[in-house]
Amino acid sequence: YNLLFFLFIISRMISTIGNSKPLNILHPQKLLTSEISDKLQADPAAIDSASSDYGHIVKQDPAAVLYPSSIQDIVALIKVAYNSSVPFEVAARGRGHSVHGQAMVRDGVVVEMMSLKSHRGGGGAGGVVVSAGSHLYADVGGEQLWIDVLNATLGHGLAPPSWTDYLYLTVGGTLSNAGISGQTFRYGPQISNVYELDVVTGKGELVTCSAYKNSDLFYAVLGGLGQFGIITRARIALEPAPKRVKWVRLLYSDFSTFTRDQEFLISINGRGQKQALDFLEGSLLMDQGSPDNWRSSFFPLFDHSRIISQITEHGIIYCLEVAKYYDEHTQNTVDEELQQLFRGLSFLNGFMFKRDVSYVEFLDRVRSGELKLESQGLWEVPHPWLNLFLPKSRILDFNEGVFKDIVLKSNITTGPVLVYPMNRNKWDDRMSAVIPDEEVFYTVGFLHSCGFDNWKAFDDQNKEILKFCDNAGIEVKQYLPHHTTKEDWIKHFGSSRWKTFSERKAQFDPKMILSPGQRIFSNN
Ligand code: FAD
Repeated sequence: YNLLFFLFIISRMISTIGNSKPLNILHPQKLLTSEISDKLQADPAAIDSASSDYGHIVKQDPAAVLYPSSIQDIVALIKVAYNSSVPFEVAARGRGHSVHGQAMVRDGVVVEMMSLKSHRGGGGAGGVVVSAGSHLYADVGGEQLWIDVLNATLGHGLAPPSWTDYLYLTVGGTLSNAGISGQTFRYGPQISNVYELDVVTGKGELVTCSAYKNSDLFYAVLGGLGQFGIITRARIALEPAPKRVKWVRLLYSDFSTFTRDQEFLISINGRGQKQALDFLEGSLLMDQGSPDNWRSSFFPLFDHSRIISQITEHGIIYCLEVAKYYDEHTQNTVDEELQQLFRGLSFLNGFMFKRDVSYVEFLDRVRSGELKLESQGLWEVPHPWLNLFLPKSRILDFNEGVFKDIVLKSNITTGPVLVYPMNRNKWDDRMSAVIPDEEVFYTVGFLHSCGFDNWKAFDDQNKEILKFCDNAGIEVKQYLPHHTTKEDWIKHFGSSRWKTFSERKAQFDPKMILSPGQRIFSNN
């Protein structure tokens, strides 16, 4: 086996001879004699699995894939990379649900984080250790999926307060971005709900960090796009888990009324505020044959035709989606509280739709759509997504210029489009995540999926949207950012945050080994 690996590396080295671009080539001897040699694989199946992602737009072959069975394996790999005369690059791969190759590394080593799951004990649940004493938290392996965190913590009647819409993402992967969903306006993004981290830095050092200990590393890693270290453990805040959820959708034909109501609802956001909602999102309904999409089948079938009539009449209908959790203590008051809240809103008369579901059904709401698409062969297709944060002050201009002009007039069928606001004060400026400079800002997500032959049309539309924002002076920030030039990255961060980001890079990953697929410090 070692011989095969050696031959593979040699063949890759030969294939790169004559290439004018300097390539980081693995130093096979050092890896082969290291303690992790038997955990590295370079067979076509391993290479193939690590060379694409959910986006199916970028393809990059690593030289090898590490299947770690312990944190020490990751430490050992990065130490070899760091100490090599020609350092090679390393990328942690969580679930590979990035869409622009962010977890890839050409000719380097991909660390298949989820391989740790089966070595944590307890069939993977051992990777989530719950503390249910006076301080509620869970110590969670960076490789764990959020669905595993949910299942393990619910066993103790507890759950994290902040989620993503889709739970089959790794903890390390979402904490490297932010982790947002309808809970963010009230509970903050997932990165605001972390007490402590274990991180293997780009020097191969395993460091425990928090707001009080090695705080520079802690803040760098949260939202840090994998640039400063590999998260191997996160201590996640927990709260008593709700049992059930009142889940409501309200339809609007007027965008300014829709956003005004969204902003009013997120203004009630105190943790202890009884009337506050627990979840708020929004989306566009456009002429696609059905008001439902793969992410949700919510509307009763017999209401479809009257919703479609509204869409036909107005072109776009805006759907405000909210949820309020309840349990046996609040089951008698929750409906009245919601009604009071809705009295001040201006949705279309007769267009309120309600469901009453379990907490797990609510949080795991996207899964059934995934399984359906998968069974139809429509899950592993290109996903030219564009996710943006934009300041509240320009959201009406965005509606006019992007939703009503670019999107509505385009001849491509748009995937789900999300649009909802959040509060800046629930984010921590010391972290690496980048958000607009206004107290309230919106996230807009264009979640396209398409055929392998036409993703470029969607990509072109994304570029058109960014160009429109640029021309109109709308200071958008990409979420799950994808930039290809250093200038664009500096613009993304802004000069002062860029200075901090690059200083932290020099401190924690001086040889620029980690997550080259983000293309921030590497042109790979
Ligand atoms: P990967 O794609 O594997 O990795 C992403 C980046 O993080 C890479 O640079 C990688 O090197 C790095 N990385 C991975 N693991 C670690 C680690 N342990 N330590 C350090 N760096 C690491 N995002 C939201 O915020 N909210 C949503 O509701 C949401 N819904 C989604 C739904 C779907 C269907 C999909 C495909 C994505 C969604 N996302 C959402 C985006 C998602 O959070 C990011 O793409 C995230 O990075 C995916 O996690 P992953 O485990 O697949 O990470």
